[in-house]
Amino acid sequence: MSVGTLTKKILQAALFYEIWDAMKVTFKHMLHKPITFQYPREQRTLPDTHRGALGLLRYDDGRERCVGCDLCEAACPSRCIKVISLEDAERPLQRYASEFYIDITKCVFCGYCVEACPVNALAMTKVYEFSTHDKRTLLFDKKRLYDIGERHLDDAKKYLYAHNQEKNVEESREYRYYFPQSVIKSTQSTPKHLS
Ligand code: SF4
Ligand code: SF4
Repeated sequence: MSVGTLTKKILQAALFYEIWDAMKVTFKHMLHKPITFQYPREQRTLPDTHRGALGLLRYDDGRERCVGCDLCEAACPSRCIKVISLEDAERPLQRYASEFYIDITKCVFCGYCVEACPVNALAMTKVYEFSTHDKRTLLFDKKRLYDIGERHLDDAKKYLYAHNQEKNVEESREYRYYFPQSVIKSTQSTPKHLS
């Protein structure tokens, strides 16, 4: 080792050169605008396409949109939806979901169930804060799904618009598919032997 190199090394050791060299990086970042969000005090603005918790929706008059057709259950790759449907006693030919469960612990938030629904009864919201110590509370039942849908109706509708499943115009309010109207009275007379 030459005398020059040795002198340089001694000087660097005496002046703590490596420490100052490393501090340069720290000082440089002190002048940058921080990009870290102080969650939960600060929260990101989520896009309308965000796939958060699922919710069930009602029509404007308060009727449940879901007709219990099970298509969402069939489309779900995680097998985490369970629909039990019954015929509506007051409206013959029409069915409704008497029970509806989504096991959110298994959901992969793919959105296939929303796409499969012919009446846009399901939508995703921007809700993502449902961590819990008891995973049994993550089996969302019908009441909880309608609660989410009601509380986050604007976000749910924006999700449907953003995914081009429903248009944000007046004439598309009545949705893509109409289930048969109720049979008010029979078109055939009752056979004699039955009357
Ligand atoms: S988002 Fe995907 S995984 Fe979750 S319930 Fe719907 S279809 Fe199933
Ligand atoms: S949410 Fe839609 S797809 Fe699922 S059972 Fe109800 S109507 Fe059918």
